[in-house]
Amino acid sequence: MSPNKHSWRYARPGPNHVADEWVQRETWGASFPTCINGIEQSPINIVTGEAIPMKSLPEISTDIDAAPHYVSNTGSGFQLFETTPTESMIANGTFIDTIEGSSKGESWVGGQKFLFYQMHWHTPSENTIDGRSFPLEAHFVHQLDDPMLVGTLHRLAVISLLYEPGPCNAFLDQFWEEFPMVPGFRQHFADGVNDFERLADEVINIDEGEGYFYWHGSLTTPPCTEGVGWYMLKHRETVSDRQIDALRYALAVS
Ligand SMILES: [Zn+2]
Repeated sequence: MSPNKHSWRYARPGPNHVADEWVQRETWGASFPTCINGIEQSPINIVTGEAIPMKSLPEISTDIDAAPHYVSNTGSGFQLFETTPTESMIANGTFIDTIEGSSKGESWVGGQKFLFYQMHWHTPSENTIDGRSFPLEAHFVHQLDDPMLVGTLHRLAVISLLYEPGPCNAFLDQFWEEFPMVPGFRQHFADGVNDFERLADEVINIDEGEGYFYWHGSLTTPPCTEGVGWYMLKHRETVSDRQIDALRYALAVS
């Protein structure tokens, strides 16, 4: 395992690991002024009464078939896959190979093709709805399929999924206990995730009934790059207290 130390902090150290505006202002501002002075910074609070209905919502369809084989604790969440267009092979925490050109999948939004890079979870949710926070929020990170954009943070698209408190989430339970307890560490996950494709197919693919909220925002952590398209699904999954506590505990370890 290799540590990936950040000079910026997402939350105050200690057991109450919650995104903290003041520690972020103190540690993000000098190196990443966009985080403080940007004009379309995320996360946001969605005021549903002020959302503008669209006559026809661009359809989202997803085809993600890669099998995750490592898990990482980024210090601000749990993550599957990496933010690169290719997959890396990790064994016992050591990088051993890169599978060049092996796309992890794609999503189509209104006729535009976005490559899927990685997904990660935050607790509590970063975005809120009418002031309400949720215990867990997943972000599926994509980038517009254009060779000129590879290696940049331009034309990103994040599909966001919120979780309600409730029954244990069987999808998460396949790998939820595998995440490293130490922030900044990642490790090999031999068993893979069986129904990752199901999650993408059944959860993200938008039918006409549920839809999503869309806004133009930014990355929620440094460098806080703007120009990110956000798609928050109205469909929600459930997550149990035990599963929430596992992530909360892992992020509180320092
Ligand atoms: Zn995120």
